[in-house]
Amino acid sequence: MKIDCIRTHHLRDELDEPFGFSQWSYSTRNTLWVEIVADDGTTGWGECYGPAEVYQAAITSFYAPRLLGLDPLATDRLWHNMWQWSLDFARGGIMMGAMSGIDMALWDLKGKSLGMSVSELMGGRYRKSIPCYATGMYFKDMPEGALLDSLVAEAVGYREQGFKALKIKVGKNLDFDSRQIAAMREALPDAMLMADSNHAYDLPEAIRIGHVLDEHGFAWFEEPLSPEYETQFRQLHNKIGVPIATGECEQTRYGFRRLLSPGGVQIAQPDIAYCGGISEALKIRTIASSLGVNVIPHCWGTMLNLAAATHFLASGYREPGRAEDGGAILELDRTPNPLRDELFETAVEIDRATVHVPTAPGLGVIVNRSAIESFRVKKTEIR
Ligand code: MG
Repeated sequence: MKIDCIRTHHLRDELDEPFGFSQWSYSTRNTLWVEIVADDGTTGWGECYGPAEVYQAAITSFYAPRLLGLDPLATDRLWHNMWQWSLDFARGGIMMGAMSGIDMALWDLKGKSLGMSVSELMGGRYRKSIPCYATGMYFKDMPEGALLDSLVAEAVGYREQGFKALKIKVGKNLDFDSRQIAAMREALPDAMLMADSNHAYDLPEAIRIGHVLDEHGFAWFEEPLSPEYETQFRQLHNKIGVPIATGECEQTRYGFRRLLSPGGVQIAQPDIAYCGGISEALKIRTIASSLGVNVIPHCWGTMLNLAAATHFLASGYREPGRAEDGGAILELDRTPNPLRDELFETAVEIDRATVHVPTAPGLGVIVNRSAIESFRVKKTEIR
């Protein structure tokens, strides 16, 4: 079997209403999909998380020409081929994000070729369904009082839809963040609540907000600090009780070893569409497992990445093992996203706040080729 053709699809949606978090605001959504076709016609799809135009150039001009003619089933070997081709000048960043989408597409292709789902290829499923948490409560451009009311109403709405777990955004300013944390707990006394600052705090600020999260029984504090300062996570962990989650900006087994080794992070969150793909996410899970850390992927994209994260969670051994399953939970972004919800003939089945693990070959989702036309910015093809 040989790789015959590699296509990329840059898709874009203009948002009806911009939304923001601690670092910037979004007015559009973009994604870069990779389509790999083997010489027998078997096709695999993958997704890159990040700047689509730059990924498109990296794949089209650099990786795709080198991959043509190679065996698409040799996923680990191809990963290390790509790693070596770009090792001297791109040990991470965009090139690794580009490799992630290619690797995801290769796993989808391999599953379809062998008649196995990606979670079976990963070693087998521990669970058939996975509970989801609602990610939302993004900032909007309005006065703080109105914003707080709007965020609480949004969260209560998700609770009424069946979500028992929800993640809010913090990192706006310490006063607003503290008020929002208290208001969410008051409105949702029995919910599992998490807070994500997207690395907005310095260490003293993170300690202060960490105490507020402790007081209100939050389940994790996500990206409290910038990933550059891995020793600060340990300093923060020594001061607060709420578990610390991070990793969506980190890549590769080497990056996660550096991030997790000081012992300050309790939940590792690689994004499969950025960290190095499925091949590398499995290695990151092994690194994390050796340190007693569980992995809950960051998932903020289209149905391809959501399917990959679902298979990854389905196949994950929980550290430490015990008879009663628990801990696996899938991030489900609830902001409007037609690139996730409108472009698939077969999608991952989501039943209220539970996702059913696909059992069809590959990722188990089928792209609707005609539906993607209206979102297309640019397509490339190398053969
Ligand atoms: Mg996050």
